[in-house]
Amino acid sequence: MTCNKRNGTRSESEDSSLNITLLCALLFYGDDMKDEEYMQLALKEAKKAYQKDEVPVGAIVVLDDKIIGKGYNQKERKDDVTSHAELIAIRNASKKIHDWRLNEATLYITLSPCAMCASAIVQSRIKRVVVGALNPDLKNKEIVDLIFAINKEKPTVQITEKVLEKESLELLQSFFKKQRKKGKVK
Ligand SMILES: [Zn+2]
Repeated sequence: MTCNKRNGTRSESEDSSLNITLLCALLFYGDDMKDEEYMQLALKEAKKAYQKDEVPVGAIVVLDDKIIGKGYNQKERKDDVTSHAELIAIRNASKKIHDWRLNEATLYITLSPCAMCASAIVQSRIKRVVVGALNPDLKNKEIVDLIFAINKEKPTVQITEKVLEKESLELLQSFFKKQRKKGKVK
């Protein structure tokens, strides 16, 4: 059976078209709903960063429908350039399952990753990445796309973009507006 995400059509028996269409809808929209639910939790992490005057980016790692790692950006607070949300979430996830290999895991991040985090995603063998807002830096996107394409274990990382994009973007915009008012934007 094959499903089409746009219209829920199928390619097999004409007789059971309604049932199969319904099943397709459930399968696909069920996944979309799950992505949104998990992205809400990543946004919750991002809001923790916001409250601590950090660029609001949050991340969670999900394996077998369980959250095994979460994190939010803490670069300023820790004076640590590697304290990006997704690296913290990956670190926590690996600790939790006592394995650096996160092969079957999905990473949810409220903003598309930088090159450093993209490399860590590839190294950790994460299967899928779900992104909220897109980083407007096109050069960054070009580099990240190249990094994702060099995973030798699995040729490409599956990417789903713009899940709760508006919410992630609004949080970032609100943060930078607040920082500008404070005269903190460099
Ligand atoms: Zn990063």
